[in-house]
Amino acid sequence: MSKLTAETKKQLSARVDYYREMGIYDFYRQPVGAADQVEESGPVAVATEPPLSSLLDSLLPVIQDKPTALQAISEDIGDCTRCRLHERRKNIVFGVGNMNADLMFVGEGPGADEDEQGEPFVGRAGQLLNNMISAMGLKREQVYIANVVKCRPPGNRTPEKDECDTCGPFLLRQIEVIRPKVIVALGAVAAKYLLAINDSMANLRGRWYDLKGAKLAVTYHPAYLLRDPRQKKEAWKDLQMVMKYLGLKPSAKSPE
Ligand code: URA
Repeated sequence: MSKLTAETKKQLSARVDYYREMGIYDFYRQPVGAADQVEESGPVAVATEPPLSSLLDSLLPVIQDKPTALQAISEDIGDCTRCRLHERRKNIVFGVGNMNADLMFVGEGPGADEDEQGEPFVGRAGQLLNNMISAMGLKREQVYIANVVKCRPPGNRTPEKDECDTCGPFLLRQIEVIRPKVIVALGAVAAKYLLAINDSMANLRGRWYDLKGAKLAVTYHPAYLLRDPRQKKEAWKDLQMVMKYLGLKPSAKSPE
């Protein structure tokens, strides 16, 4: 492969950074087409710049598929000490599920069970979320689940704004990689962070928002539904809006 000048490398690297900022992580190499091939017997071609495919070859470390891109986010989080939540955490709770999911759920932050197991929504609220997912005709393994903050707030308090602002960009990067069709924000913390608006749940629910190429809907947090089961009917309406958009048929089971 031809050697790149330092200037070409710089420009190419800037272009790749630009794509990454737009949320484009996957670059696919195309086979060199007939048009790119120089006839051996034809006139001698004067090489100027190599074709884009070989330029990208030289930047293999930034050419990422989804597992690699998610791994890179996880490595960037590392053994994080960026905010005070690290002090008492046992495990960083990164996210779980199908990285090609059409549907992604976003909660606020891990609780005690999640901190213990390193997986989001595995406690009582998680059990209800599982029921909600299966009532939508899906399996937990088919969706992706993550939180705004990745370390448990002590005593399960609500994460504070500076904690959400510090950790949230990792969630935004996860969304950029997974590229779900629909994001469901579970509760006010997730909704307010993702939409950058401060409004009541009553106002936030019942309509679509746009986020990073996905549709976003807001519903009640499962932990809230455990405290006030009368609101389950309302949450089910939110999920039905999502199902209609995704063409999902409800399962026979109700989301109890
Ligand atoms: N509540 C959340 O918001 N996230 C979890 O992972 C568990 C409970």
